Parts: sequence; structure tokens; C-alpha cells
Amino acid sequence: MPLSSASTIIVLAGRVCPTSWADPPYINGYNPLGGRRHVKRQTALSLMIGIVFAACAQPTTEEQLIRDAASALGGAERLTAVKTIVIEGKGTQYNLGQDVVPGAWGQTFTITQYRRSIDVPAGRARTELTRTPNFAYYLGPAEQRQIQGIDGAVGYNVAASGTATRVGEAAAGDRRAELVRHPIVAMRAALDPTSRVTNLRTEDGQSIVDVSTTDGRAFTLAIDAATKRPSQVTTMSDNVVLGDIRISTTFGDYQDVGGWQLPMRFTTKTDNFTSVEVHAATHVVDANAGDLAAPAAAASAAVPVAPAPNVTVADVSPGIWQLAGGSHRSVLVEFADRLVLFEAPQNDARTLAVIAKARELRPGKPLTHVVNSHHHFDHSGGIRAAVSEGLTIVTHMGNTTFFEEIVKRPHTLVPDALSKNPKPLKMEAVGDEKVITDGAMTMHLYDVPGEHSSTMLMAYFPRERLLLEADMYEPDEDLHVFAPRFLEEVKKRRVRVDRIVSLHSNVAPYDRLLKDAASMKQRR
Ligand SMILES: [Zn+2]
Repeated sequence: MPLSSASTIIVLAGRVCPTSWADPPYINGYNPLGGRRHVKRQTALSLMIGIVFAACAQPTTEEQLIRDAASALGGAERLTAVKTIVIEGKGTQYNLGQDVVPGAWGQTFTITQYRRSIDVPAGRARTELTRTPNFAYYLGPAEQRQIQGIDGAVGYNVAASGTATRVGEAAAGDRRAELVRHPIVAMRAALDPTSRVTNLRTEDGQSIVDVSTTDGRAFTLAIDAATKRPSQVTTMSDNVVLGDIRISTTFGDYQDVGGWQLPMRFTTKTDNFTSVEVHAATHVVDANAGDLAAPAAAASAAVPVAPAPNVTVADVSPGIWQLAGGSHRSVLVEFADRLVLFEAPQNDARTLAVIAKARELRPGKPLTHVVNSHHHFDHSGGIRAAVSEGLTIVTHMGNTTFFEEIVKRPHTLVPDALSKNPKPLKMEAVGDEKVITDGAMTMHLYDVPGEHSSTMLMAYFPRERLLLEADMYEPDEDLHVFAPRFLEEVKKRRVRVDRIVSLHSNVAPYDRLLKDAASMKQRR
């Protein structure tokens, strides 16, 4: 981030003092003229000079902390002159929100060919990596190349084909926030005389301050009391399921690199869940970072905005409908006195549209329950919306603690339906089996553990000989990683099935599962 152009600044051993009075000076974010522009300039200047000299004579404890941290890294003057940073190495990604049970961290991707390049003054960064799953992954065991970047307001991805696409505002905002999760970038922001550094406190041997910049960035900076080096940067973000989340990056294994103290280990956590670890093999300041401008195709594209959810209705059987029209479908089941929905997916917008469509289909009957297939964030992103609509959540017993927690979590950064319309959580846990029936329509809910999730439910309709499931078998896809295990679990239930209703595919004959499971078994 560039230094303020409002006045000429000399950084003297980390101490920031204005040397030109042509423009208003800024002292750690406090502009003496701010909000008082009616004061005559002469008076303002006298006041200002008094404040400046007083401040220069006696640094605040926050200023002293930042000054010491700058010295410990390599010096304030050098810090404010840094142009680029390039980190190369390897690491591990964890599967937040998609592991086998809520909160698990056993599923990992090995990261190789990692390179993160940052153009500090321009606010540009690009991360390139190859990731290889160490678990049964729905796309198979093959490695994937990922390129993600930010260039000012433009966030973008580059596909393996080389095609660049612009990402939505939320993802771009997260990538802008990620820029400060590096000690040099964080320290530059803290040293910027237009920034505010406040609220010094001490926790576990760390001195902690809050930093806010005039361009709207805010983060918490922890500085090790012993080494004086930055130890952690924390930013706040929104997650559809988790609401307000702390994303923290801890800096470890500091080494001397060309006179700089630079961390060789970056550990990023979402609240208490470790999401990525990077081990740097090289970490270089002011190396050639290459061209970090957003590719033209992304830079010239409009910011993509999620379209309004489209909910279409497809008859499956009398009293059973697929509510489709998006990547994640739901299924509506009509009983004599009520309607039951299977799946509240993705987010508020999708789930509220699905609930509205269900009520529109059978306006005379109350929609009372929603069955959740499994805890994965894309399949539970509408749970809070369903609670806000008064529905009872039916889920595998292994998910109940997690759902109790997510219903309680604050969503203040991006208020959602439940935070605007709080309702108590009503939940029914399913162990091995649960039957919902009115004598005619009968739905069995079965525990169906597997590699994809071990807190998973499928539904079986004996009269219709229908099996309803999510993610374990997608008839429309080419790869069927979980199909052999899924078939084993289905056979254990000794059910007679004619058709499979999948939440990501069209209804398919049971025979196709037999065929796809057999061919997948051979490939393995
Ligand atoms: Zn899933």
C-alpha cells in the first residue's frame, strides 16, 4: 500500500513525523483537520503543529510496538519500500465443511508447486498451486492445478485451459483481505500514517492491536512480545454456514533472508479449524514477481452476480416431486396432513425459494419438516433459512451438535434470514432408521455411511420403490467414486429399488447404479 501523499513523510526509525505543512498531516490515522474544516487554517496549523510535536516527542504504546516490530523484521524504511514478495514451497489444504463428519480434519490435499506472488504497492497477488487429494474424492485421485488472483477490485481464476474468469465480490473481498496475511504487508498497513492502530492488549505472550486503513481494511495484528516479530494476522469474513468467522494466519519458522526476518511457515485457520498450511522453500523480497495484472478477459468482465434461484418442479411419482432448476435439488413429499422436504441446500436464497415453491404446490398443507442428507456445507447451507421458516430439521444423529452450533452462531457481517427472524431450533435425530408414514405414503430414512460422509441419510419409499440420496451416486456424471460402497450399503438394507432419485442428477433406473458400481470397482 502506498504511503500517504497528503504530506511528505520521513520514517525515522519507525517513527512517523510529517516534515511538510503544505497539506494536512496524519498521525497514526488521526487527521487533526478531519471533521473541523471550518476552523481557520491558521488556527488549525497552530493546533496541528502542537499535536505533531507532542506526538513525536512521546510515541504511544501502539506506535512503539509497531516501531519495534518494523525494526525486528528489517527496518521501517525498507518495509515501506518493498515492491514484491514471492513465496515458493509446498503444503497441505484441509477440507473445511466437506470432511466425513462435522469438524473433522482427516481429509487433506497435498499442495505442490506452490507459488504466491504479491505486488505490494499495487494490491495484486496471485497464488498458483497443484493439489492432490489424499482421500476418496468425488473428482477422483487426479491432481488439480489452481490459479487464483486479485488485482485491485478484480478477483479472478485461471483454469487449466488458460481461460480466465472473474469471481464474485465476496471471493474478491476475501482475496483482498488475504493480502495482509503476510508480515510485510501487514506492517506496511500498520506503518501507514493514515492507518489507525488501536486497542493494544496482551494475550499469551503476544501484544495485539487492531489496525484499520483508510481504504476500509481492518485486521488484528499479533506481535510476539519476546521476538517483537509479527506472529499472526486475523481478518473477519462471512461464511454462509458459519456466519462471522475469524480467518487467522500464523507466521512461524522465521529465518534471516537477505537481512529480512521472514516466516517460512504460514498456518491459516478458519476459527479453530486449520484450513491450509504452507511451508516455504524460498521466500524472496523484491524478486521478479512477473506480471500480476488480472488477465484481460477477467478485468473486462462484469462482476458475476448469482442469478435469482430458479425452482422447477418435476413429477417423480404421485406425491413426490423433484424441486430442481439449480445445481442442488430438493425433493418434496406429500403426506396426508403435511409436507416434508428433503434437503435445504446451498444458502438462504435457494432454500427460501424451494420452501416457497413447496408451499405453492400444496397451499393447503403445512410444510413441517426438512430432512438433511448430510452436513456438507453445500447441502446444509439452507438449514438456518429452514429454521427461520419454522421447519423441524431431521438429520443424522452425528450432525445434531454441529447444527445446534450453526443455528447459534452470529451472522452480523452479512445478516441472514435467521438472524433477521430468529426462531428456536427444532430438531429430530436419526440413528439407524426412522420411518415417516401416514399409512399410504411411507418414507424410511436410513443411516448410510460411506467415504463421502459418515453422517449421511438416504430415503427409501417402499411403495414407489424409490431410493433418494445425495452425493453417493450421480447417474449423470462420468465418474462414480462412491458407487461401489453405496451399493453395498443399499444391499444391506434389503430394499427393492426401481429408480434412484439423486439430488444432482435426473432420476435413473436402479440398473444403472449396478452397472456403474461394477465398472468403478474394476477401475479401482
Ligand atoms: Zn457432500
